[in-house]
Formats: sequence, structure tokens, C-alpha cells
Amino acid sequence: MNLLRRHPVAIALVVLLLATAIHPLSPLIDAVTGSTPGDVDLERPVTYVLVAPLSNTLDALTFLSQPRAEWALAVWILALAAWGALRRSETPLTWRRRTTRALVGPGVLVLLAVAAVLLPRPVPRLTTEGTVGGTVMDYHAHTNASHDGRPGWTLAKLAAWHERQGFEASYVTDHNVIYDGSLPVPEGTSINLLPGVEWSVYGQHVVAIGPVEPLPRDSFQGTTARMIRIFAAIERQGGLSIASLPEYWRYHWDDLGAFVVGGVDGFEIVNCAPKALGFPSKLRRQVLTLAGSHDLMVVGASDNHGWGKVTCVWNVSLPGAQGFHTNRVFARPLALVQGDGWSWAAAVSQPWYMLRSLSWSERASWLTWVVIILLYRAMPRREGQGAGLGILARSLGRRSRRTTVPNETPT
Ligand SMILES: [Zn+2]
Repeated sequence: MNLLRRHPVAIALVVLLLATAIHPLSPLIDAVTGSTPGDVDLERPVTYVLVAPLSNTLDALTFLSQPRAEWALAVWILALAAWGALRRSETPLTWRRRTTRALVGPGVLVLLAVAAVLLPRPVPRLTTEGTVGGTVMDYHAHTNASHDGRPGWTLAKLAAWHERQGFEASYVTDHNVIYDGSLPVPEGTSINLLPGVEWSVYGQHVVAIGPVEPLPRDSFQGTTARMIRIFAAIERQGGLSIASLPEYWRYHWDDLGAFVVGGVDGFEIVNCAPKALGFPSKLRRQVLTLAGSHDLMVVGASDNHGWGKVTCVWNVSLPGAQGFHTNRVFARPLALVQGDGWSWAAAVSQPWYMLRSLSWSERASWLTWVVIILLYRAMPRREGQGAGLGILARSLGRRSRRTTVPNETPT
């Protein structure tokens, strides 16, 4: 009872870590069938698991759809500020001290959000069993050749980003800038960078992959009827066309039948960009039905622009093949639920889904960190001093002296 009163946050966290273990989410979900795949796995490096609370939190921040990110950050900032300002203190606080306390929590949260985008860190990778038969691919990724690509985000950096996460190949699809594959493959990488482009035409982004060439983009603007002619134009070049998210969902949902008649070769069903992550599961199933009945490809896209360290999706593809059954899409469950439920509840549901998707080793790491922090905070404090690492070190030192000295004394 005393422990609960003195450390309510730690105790609540322990209860949550145990409660979410009852209904865990699988680390990866087959986005086509909705089931847990048996022949691929998510491998987490030791360093990732050692600092699991940080690793998982940064991943969970990365996999927020835009509306959920806005709600979650607003609610967390208000809650942390209120908690900081209203928290009881042994000594009366001046308004200035109170304001400082109110700013600490939101400050840490903003730092975490920035870290999720920029901080280099260990990341999980997809591993396949020998029987899986296919190449681990990304169909949609950008470099600094795109207007919204991260400055300095070169082909070499993109390839390294893919390599760390278990990819073997990626199409390079900059906005209206063709990558023809003729540039030398970056040194020190085994990633196969494949030719592609992402065309912007009349409210739609079309990923074109394969031997693509320049197109008179203006001639596909103005109406949907003109726009869908780009699919046939890409086919004449020998390339494949994939309708990108979020655009077909946002602006052309009623035109998807026309897309198929126009010759589109496939649809993205998962895209990790914040605006695309909100694609609802119900609509994903409708696209899967449409694609399945016309034998069209469905793919996952990191849509990486150099911001953020982790992908939410991988493909395992049969090279050179096309059609519904030639590509499998594996996504992190946290990314797949972004379009479902209430966005305003994201401040609660995002941590809930994150904790549910922890592996046992990650859960053990979280619990260890909670215990370490509890022990540290329970250290006896000297008059006028907060608990500090100095005190921790001193008291550990005291304890070890007490145990070693008698042994050294000859009797
Ligand atoms: Zn893109």
C-alpha cells in the first residue's frame, strides 16, 4: 500500500505491462490475410532490447497517423504540464518553480518526438526463413532529389537505411524525378536500388517502377479521365504503375473502378507516411477485394523521405512477377490500426497498442528499468539533496565495503 502511494506511476506501469501480456499482438501481421505469418519474423538487436522503453516509445511515435499524432501530443502535453504544476511538494513552491515543473514533462515529450525523427538508434529488421522464397523489397522511397526529401539524404544513406531493416532491394521513387538505375550502386551496401519515379497527376500520386522514361505530365492533368491514361502510358514504357496512398483514398475513392479499367497494375495497401497511415482497415479490405478480383498487385510502401528511422512495412516479392499472389505485405500491427477507432483517444490507445505488441524480452527490459528506477528513487536522501547518482554510488560503495571488510580481516 505504501509502495503504491509513493510510486503510483511505476506500479501502474507494472500492472499495464502484465495486463497487456494477456492479449499480446504479434510483432508482424500479414496485411493481406490479417493473420500472423509463420515464415517471417521481426528481429530486434540486443541494443534495441536493452533500451526497450526508449526504442518502443520512439517506434510508437513514428507510427502515429497525422490526426492521431496531433491529438496524442496535445493531450500528453496538457496532462504532463498539469501533473508537473499540481504535483505535491514537501516545500511550498513559488509560481516560478511551479511553472518550471509544468514545462519539464512537455519538454521531454517534444525532445522524444524530435528524437523519433532524427536520433540514430538500433532498429528491428525483418528476417525470413529459407522457405519463404522471395526478395524483401520496398516499392516506394525517396532521396534528396525529391523536394520534400531530407537534405543530404543520398542514395547511399537510403540504401543503408534499408539494409539495417532487412531489405534486399528498393525502388527509388522521387517526386517527378526519374531514377534510372544508372548511377553507381553505393559502396558498402548489398541493397539493390531499382529504377522508378512517383508521378503527381491530378490529385493522384502514381508510383511507376521498372524501365520508366519522362512523360508529358501536363497532358494527364485536369480531369480523372485524363489522369488515368498515365497507367497505359507507363505500361507502354514497360513499367508497372501503382496507385499511391493517401491520394487514391482521399481524392479518387469513387474512381478506383476506372483506375482498373485504365490499366493500373497495383495499389498500395500500407504506406508509412503520417498522412497515409490513417487509411482505415475497412477500406483496405475493399481494395484487397478489388485487387484480388482483377489479379492486381498490392504492396506496402515505407515512403521514406529520410525522416524517421523505422519502416512500418516490408514486402516479400517474387522478382519479375506481377499479380495479386506475387507479393506478400508484412506490417507492424501498430501501423495497421492507425485508421481505426477514435483519433482523439490516441493518447491512451497508442501506448496500449505499443505495450500489447511487446515481445517477452522487451517486456522484461521494461520491468527491469522500472525496478532500477524504483530502487534509485527509494535510496535514502541526505538532508537538502535530491536523489542523485552520487548518492547511489556512495551507498553502493558503503554496502560493498561493509561486506568485504570482514572477509579481509584475519581471524
Ligand atoms: Zn512518396
